[in-house]
Amino acid sequence: MNNRLEKIRKLFSEYRIDALLVSSTVNCKYLSGFTGTSATLLIDPYEAFLLTDFRYIEQAKDQCPQFHIIDVSGEAQLSLSQLLDDRGIRKLGSESDYLTYNQFTTLRDKLAPVKLIPVKGAVQSLRKVKDSDEISAIKQSMDILDSALNNIISQLKPGITEREIALNLEFFARKQGATGNAFDFIVASGPRSALPHGTASPRALQHGELVTIDLGVIYDGYASDMTRTFAVGQCSEKQKLIYNIVLEAQLAGMAAIRPGVEAKGVDHAARSVIESYGYGSSFGHGTGHGVGLEVHEGPRLSKKSDTVLEKGMVVTVEPGIYLPGWGGVRIEDTVVVEERGCRALCGFPKDSLICT
Ligand code: ZN
Ligand code: ZN
Repeated sequence: MNNRLEKIRKLFSEYRIDALLVSSTVNCKYLSGFTGTSATLLIDPYEAFLLTDFRYIEQAKDQCPQFHIIDVSGEAQLSLSQLLDDRGIRKLGSESDYLTYNQFTTLRDKLAPVKLIPVKGAVQSLRKVKDSDEISAIKQSMDILDSALNNIISQLKPGITEREIALNLEFFARKQGATGNAFDFIVASGPRSALPHGTASPRALQHGELVTIDLGVIYDGYASDMTRTFAVGQCSEKQKLIYNIVLEAQLAGMAAIRPGVEAKGVDHAARSVIESYGYGSSFGHGTGHGVGLEVHEGPRLSKKSDTVLEKGMVVTVEPGIYLPGWGGVRIEDTVVVEERGCRALCGFPKDSLICT
């Protein structure tokens, strides 16, 4: 945590601010370790303060030893204005990605004459590169997905509904220690598998069709994300063909990952495989995204992303082909960028289309 505070302070001169006000719950957690849902951080060049109400005072004292804990409730209230005045802060950065315009203007008026300066993406830029503890938490979160899919595979038979599959996956994952879902699981069968984000419906699986399962959970605060596509009972030549194209694209994307490469280069590597088979227009989303405290965070692996990959970034590689009326295939691994390439944090097989 100390290291993170030092890194964020180094950005102050670039943003021309004396201090940063952190209002996003997830960024508060990243910088302080606080897991409650109501806190604001004030970080100046020398000290760090966590402002919260009486419900969280003891928790904050316990979780955030590097912060001065300030009770902003009741009579003990010390206002942010007073604190800024005491600390001699004139230019205060605020997180423009998280404050609504209304919140920004209200705060600006309240804190005047302190100048409130919108700061975009500062803490998020640090969060892109994970330390070893974070990678280990994501790996454990991913391990739960591997076991959950292994457990569900025998249940992927005609008659089971998408919602039952999602529920069984969640129940299993919770028993393995997951504290929640990272997003509503996608279970999309038959023609619905052509919906890239088809959340589980009451539809029952039918023999010979595809089912795409995209799941992610939270473990120790960290998200995971993985997708596999299966054929129910039997698979057709066309299903195998489409699957193998997506697999080739997914492997090409992974092979392109190493430190120093632009994120759009990874997108291009995966996309050009799908385009070469004539399915370019059937792959309408980006190739991947960062995974960490949030399931969708930086860096994006898309056509336009010029983020340069660095060792320690954790990203998904998830190309897909979606054919309306027929179905779709997506294969997604979450990987960590290492010295010479990347390492998948999931181990569930993908080498060929699995017929359940
Ligand atoms: Zn996913
Ligand atoms: Zn994803």
